[in-house]
Amino acid sequence: MQPHDSQPPQPAGGPADPYPALGGWAQAQDVTATPSEPPWYPSSPQYPAAPYGIPTSQYGATPYGYGVAPVPPGTPPQRQPRGLSPYGMPARHPWEIPLLVVVCVITTLAMLIAVAACIDLVLDRKLPSIYLIILVFAPIVVWFLRGMTYATMRVNGVKMSPTQFPEGYQLVVEAAARFGMAKVPDAYVVLGNGQINAFASGHGFRRFVAVYSDLFEIGGAAREPDALAFIIGHEVGHIAAGHTSYWRQLGMFVAPSLPIVGSSLIRSQEYTADNHGYCNRHVGAPGAMSTLAAGKYLNKLVGFDEMADRAAIEKGFFVWIGNAMSSHPVLTWRMWALRDRSRHGKLFLRPSRPAGAPPAGSYPSNYGEVPALPPKPVP
Ligand SMILES: [Zn+2]
Repeated sequence: MQPHDSQPPQPAGGPADPYPALGGWAQAQDVTATPSEPPWYPSSPQYPAAPYGIPTSQYGATPYGYGVAPVPPGTPPQRQPRGLSPYGMPARHPWEIPLLVVVCVITTLAMLIAVAACIDLVLDRKLPSIYLIILVFAPIVVWFLRGMTYATMRVNGVKMSPTQFPEGYQLVVEAAARFGMAKVPDAYVVLGNGQINAFASGHGFRRFVAVYSDLFEIGGAAREPDALAFIIGHEVGHIAAGHTSYWRQLGMFVAPSLPIVGSSLIRSQEYTADNHGYCNRHVGAPGAMSTLAAGKYLNKLVGFDEMADRAAIEKGFFVWIGNAMSSHPVLTWRMWALRDRSRHGKLFLRPSRPAGAPPAGSYPSNYGEVPALPPKPVP
């Protein structure tokens, strides 16, 4: 496991850290003692302040100062306060539970109506449509698909262990400990074929995360360990937040077919999982987002601040509907949420720049202008 860059030394004479490798308590104590003017990503030398855009300190929203409460050393994760900072426990997005209730009610109604319609059709000696049959048998469909997904991992995935992808395995163990989970989920590396992705699911009482091989790069080591720690924290966070339970997935059965409402619930879950990733390794957030934006080779050239700034600039109906229909928050909004830790990520309305903030970008004055060409030489 890569050491946590920002881990300060354990205070002399302080109580023993129950997870010495994580450095959580020592960090929290240290940070609450020095909240003045911290840098934005304090221990991420490869992500210096972007040359363009608003210096992030002007937002007054830093990883510190929000959700940080004095936590007595040795407090188990379950008893730590929830917030948006990297310290304590990660917060759930406030829209998640209300939207979950709405979607569960709609799913239940849809299933009841489907059962009634099927009975009606069968009594009339007519064949119900395939959609009605799938709705009626949703509990079996969800169970079957979960079982198949898990079986695919068990027979085709490379299982992370202390001897196989040990770096990834250690990150999963670290995330499970940080989120106060009773069990470490299984973790697999699956063939990515160039795709950058990861997901979490479960079957029965088992939970697992799967990471696409392209995140691991050469020789089993991640090119950007902090970004991988963020992504694994995000996926383990889905499990810790209960997103992978059978009942949850059954209750959300119609969510993918529910425009706006269903996709917004899924987006709020993604913000919750991002909060977990941020809690697990906040310095990995820019690298993870840059990799999602530009891939594993160009990620280092992405200006995180410059791209996040565009969340407040790009506007209009199609931006709004594109985000509203999407299962993940659009990247610029997601980056903004990971940068501004004073509030939760925006679900429906684009983030707005704080009053008095200077305009984004400090480009050359001729940026975007078509230059005049010199006259062509005449032969
Ligand atoms: Zn996710």
